[in-house]
Amino acid sequence: MDADVIIVGAGPAGLCLAKSLSGRKLKITVLEQQPQATLEAPAFDGREIALTQHSAKLLQDLGLWELIDNKDQAPLKDAKVIDGPNLFAMTIGHDLSGRSELGWLVSNHLIRDAAWRGVQQAMAANSDITLMPGEQVTAVRTTDTEGSVTLASGKTLQAKLVVAADSRFSSTRRMMGIAAHMHDFGKNMLVCAMTFDKPHDFAAWEWFGYGQTLALLPMNPHPDTGAHRASVVITRSSHEIDALMHLEPDAFNAAVTVRFGNRLGAMRLCSTRHNYPLVAVYPQRLVARRFATVGDAAVGMHPVTAHGFNFGLLSVEALTHEINTALHTHADIGSTSLLKRYEARQKRATLPLFWMTRMIVEIYTRDSLPAKLARQVLLRVSDKVMPFKRSIAQSLAGVGRA
Ligand SMILES: Cc1cc2nc3c(=O)[nH]c(=O)nc-3n(C[C@H](O)[C@H](O)[C@H](O)COP(=O)(O)OP(=O)(O)OC[C@H]3O[C@@H](n4cnc5c(N)ncnc54)[C@H](O)[C@@H]3O)c2cc1C
Repeated sequence: MDADVIIVGAGPAGLCLAKSLSGRKLKITVLEQQPQATLEAPAFDGREIALTQHSAKLLQDLGLWELIDNKDQAPLKDAKVIDGPNLFAMTIGHDLSGRSELGWLVSNHLIRDAAWRGVQQAMAANSDITLMPGEQVTAVRTTDTEGSVTLASGKTLQAKLVVAADSRFSSTRRMMGIAAHMHDFGKNMLVCAMTFDKPHDFAAWEWFGYGQTLALLPMNPHPDTGAHRASVVITRSSHEIDALMHLEPDAFNAAVTVRFGNRLGAMRLCSTRHNYPLVAVYPQRLVARRFATVGDAAVGMHPVTAHGFNFGLLSVEALTHEINTALHTHADIGSTSLLKRYEARQKRATLPLFWMTRMIVEIYTRDSLPAKLARQVLLRVSDKVMPFKRSIAQSLAGVGRA
């Protein structure tokens, strides 16, 4: 057998799993279609990842949090939900979570960078990870005794367990015959970093404007100018996002300033712009014979509730726990019973919020008059219901899991 565990995909989830399994006398192989140069120096991709307190703790336990500079970890103090042009906002304060901040914001490329460097450290310390960049998996087959993957280069590798960490559109999941519920929201998301005149007080905004959804994710001040800075997220139809992507910077700045109703003063682009189609995915099964999914391959969330990578880390935690237990009892790390336990735990952790997120997007993006009125009432009533707000605060912080 070439390895104990083969991980397909060296995105943040695949790398975190490799790091998490390292040092346990397992042979781990990570296969990634992108070249090593891309993995070594991940480029800014516009995503500012809101991490729960529980995720920050998991990254600390993996030794990755310390590889992210303090200046690149922005505290998420509060979250505001705004509806339409109203000045009223439902505010979820960090005090409701019992912590001094709800969570943290870190750029996705810096998480990838920390995970890459963490894996390099683990390789040097434990010599138990083989990284194979530039290798695309083209076929997967499993039997009762082993999993086997074929690469575009023609090589075939065997392991006791194959783990798919190859994105929400996982081709290995499909090759294993696992169907997935996919919902295309028919919208795209433009993400970029911008500076502006007024402080954001480290509050995130989710603004369900009429005809558009806007979000603001606080970042630390711009390192060169000290200006207030945040990640700006605009959700519109794909052709409108394409038009915004191609506006000259000055015209783009003016357009976004107006979209944000001048609430932050003049806004200025300070990064590249990135465009993501919005598709949510939930597989019918998270495991098969000697096969498991983690990260986005196990659940592809709509970013509005900011849980995608948080769920990815939970999948890493849950699968590592099951494998560890098997190792302690000299049991098979690819057994069906182990995989079923992992699947049950991961579904419990993710399925309710997956559907709740779908529902929130449905309710808050309808623009009929009754829907607008119902939203206003819902927001004002919710603002007064402390147990409800506390439960949202605890979900955002991941409190209760830590
Ligand atoms: C705009 C936006 C905002 C987001 N905001 C948040 C947030 O605030 N909080 C949060 O928790 N999450 C957020 N997310 C989600 C988060 O970015 C994802 O959950 C996370 O990046 C997924 O990591 P992954 O490793 O599972 O998958 P990916 O990053 O997609 O990595 C998959 C890897 O597999 C490789 N691969 C694919 N197929 C093959 C193959 N056949 N052979 C070999 N390699 C293969 C790919 O090249 C890739 O490197 C956001 C996402 C978006 C788009």
